[in-house]
Amino acid sequence: MTPASPVGHLELVTIGTELLLGFTVDTNSAFLGRVIAEAGVRVSRRTSVRDDPEEIRSAVSDALARSRFVITTGGLGPTRDDMTKKVVAALFDTPLDFQEPIWQALVERFARFGRVPAESNRGQAEVPRGALVLPNRWGTAPGLWLSGRLGELIMLPGVPSEMKGLLTHEVVPRLAARAGGRAIRSHVVRTTGIPESTLAERIATVEDSLDQLTLAYLPGIEGVDLRLTAWDLAEAEARRAFERAEGGIRAIVGDHCYGTGDDDLAAVLLERMKASGLTLAVAESCTGGMVGERVTAVPGSSAVFLGGVIAYANEVKAGLAGVSTDAIGADGAVSEAVVREMAAGVALRTGADLVVAVSGVAGPGGGSDAKPVGTVWFGFSVRGAVDAQRVVFPGSRADIRGRAAQFALHGLWRRAAAPPPGR
Ligand code: AMP
Ligand code: MG
Repeated sequence: MTPASPVGHLELVTIGTELLLGFTVDTNSAFLGRVIAEAGVRVSRRTSVRDDPEEIRSAVSDALARSRFVITTGGLGPTRDDMTKKVVAALFDTPLDFQEPIWQALVERFARFGRVPAESNRGQAEVPRGALVLPNRWGTAPGLWLSGRLGELIMLPGVPSEMKGLLTHEVVPRLAARAGGRAIRSHVVRTTGIPESTLAERIATVEDSLDQLTLAYLPGIEGVDLRLTAWDLAEAEARRAFERAEGGIRAIVGDHCYGTGDDDLAAVLLERMKASGLTLAVAESCTGGMVGERVTAVPGSSAVFLGGVIAYANEVKAGLAGVSTDAIGADGAVSEAVVREMAAGVALRTGADLVVAVSGVAGPGGGSDAKPVGTVWFGFSVRGAVDAQRVVFPGSRADIRGRAAQFALHGLWRRAAAPPPGR
């Protein structure tokens, strides 16, 4: 019994004291925001409240008064702090009815796990009279869609996996049907190794020519993501506009662009190396294994990745990576000579086609005028041909290490595009 008035925008109310105390990050709001926008409905405001009947009541009734359409998450569980339904039933001036079929489904669900529901679970089978029950295959509390004089209210459980299941399978199809097919669509172009301001200057011409899309710059440790958004285009039109814009960006930034959507640079690198039958090894100092971690996080990495060394102490750089005491003595462990020898040494020991070596000053201490905090040397061995690069990264210790790992992967990816012929 979902009435068919169109939905333009709605509000979210997330319920749970843990959200305000900061013990639980409100990931439900973020997920709801994305998915609802894709369904063509705008989220105009979101509110978080404690598990307190008066707080819940006023947040829900204010949101309904403003927007007539509200989604809540949380407070549908069996415990005393779960009170959303009771508050909402009172607000809508409707009684709670115990529904035997919901109770039976709950009993069966418990039985599958060899359990019997507690008396307190009976509350989860209570439904405000007139509400549409959204069956929950992912947990015990069904979602509820209540329509009345005050507007429309969708109640979803707080547990993220249950909320996602219900939202995707029960709520979004109904919302999309009422949004007139005008979904908000986004397309992300991923760049790295080029600062946000430089990128903005270079692609200004593309940005100027976007008439149907908006462009957002999203800088992070891995680089700058460019999010193109079509606010009011049909799917095929949006796809064409994204292709045009992406083509324009790629033509300007070249191999600073490594992918789209949620492409991961390590995965993109492995794909390229696998296609050319290349193998990879690492020699890591200041990144302490982060490059290897990024690579081995990708399923199927064993086809490409051989291994490497975490050569943190000078003795290990010498003993396991084959760095000479001369190289370390000449200009210290963070130097061109050292990363060159690390890369060459690990290439020799592993037989890998491509090797990256990383040595730097991650801070916060240990910097000098010649080598300020953030200075990182990279050595690359491509079938025995070694080159080196020096970069100074901004940020905290974690930022510098993360940026260095990303830079290493990017350097490998570029070099894997056109490896010189074998030795
Ligand atoms: P509830 O449905 O209120 O019993 O919530 C159950 C659990 O879901 C809580 O203990 C939280 O761990 C989690 N949760 C509730 N609300 C949110 C939210 N907005 N974002 C992420 N997790 C949540
Ligand atoms: Mg709760």
